[in-house]
Amino acid sequence: MALLLASNNAGKLREVRALLADIAVVAPAALGLELDVEESGQTFAANAQLKARAYAAASGQIALADDSGLEVNALGGAPGIYSARYGGPDLDDAGRCQLLLTQLAPYPEPAQRRARFRCVLCAVSPDGRQCRAEGTCEGRIAPAPAGTNGFGYDPVFFVPAYAKTMAQLDPQVKNRLSHRAEALAAMRPLLANTFPELALAR
Ligand code: IMP
Repeated sequence: MALLLASNNAGKLREVRALLADIAVVAPAALGLELDVEESGQTFAANAQLKARAYAAASGQIALADDSGLEVNALGGAPGIYSARYGGPDLDDAGRCQLLLTQLAPYPEPAQRRARFRCVLCAVSPDGRQCRAEGTCEGRIAPAPAGTNGFGYDPVFFVPAYAKTMAQLDPQVKNRLSHRAEALAAMRPLLANTFPELALAR
C-alpha cells in the first residue's frame, strides 16, 4: 500500500522518498488531488495534523504531512511556522533567504546567528489512527547564500560539522543529518506499528 505525502513541495517529496525508500510515496498530483489546506494552527504539530487529516479525508488513503521551518534565535524563533510564506507572497525561496540575511545584518558574529530547522511529521488514516514524530537540525545563518542543492532556506543554513551550507552538501549527506531525516527515523517504527497495512520493513 502506498503512502500519500500531504504536500506539493517537490523538495520535501524528493527527501521523503529517499528516506522511506522501501515504500511507495505518492504525491497529491498523482491522484489528481488539488487541496489547499489552511495552516491555521499555531504550532508545527497542529499544522501537520491539519494537513494529514485533510489529505486522508480527501483521498481515502493514509496521508503523511510534514510541517517544517527555520527558527532563528536572534529573530525570536522567526520565521518558524511562517517559513514558507515569510515576507509575503511576492517572495520566492531566494527572496526569503535574502530577507533573512538583511534582518541578520546587525548580528554578524557566528554565535549571534544560531538557528535550527524543525520538522514535525504526522500520519493519519481515514479511520482516524495517527502518529507523530519530530526532528531538529542545529546550525547558523551563513553570511551569504551558497550552494544549489536542496530547497527553501538551504543556501543560507550553515552546518558547522561540515563547514558548508545545507545547499552545498550532497543530498545523501543532508538526508543523514537533517531535521526531516531525524523525524523520519523516529517515525518509521511508529508508522509500522500504527499502520501495519503499509507493510514497512522494520
Ligand atoms: P510548510 O510547507 O508550511 O511546512 O513550510 C516549510 C517551509 O520551511 C519550506 O517552504 C521552506 O521554506 C522551509 N523548510 C522546511 N524544511 C526545509 C529544508 O529542509 N531546507 C530548507 N528549507 C526548509
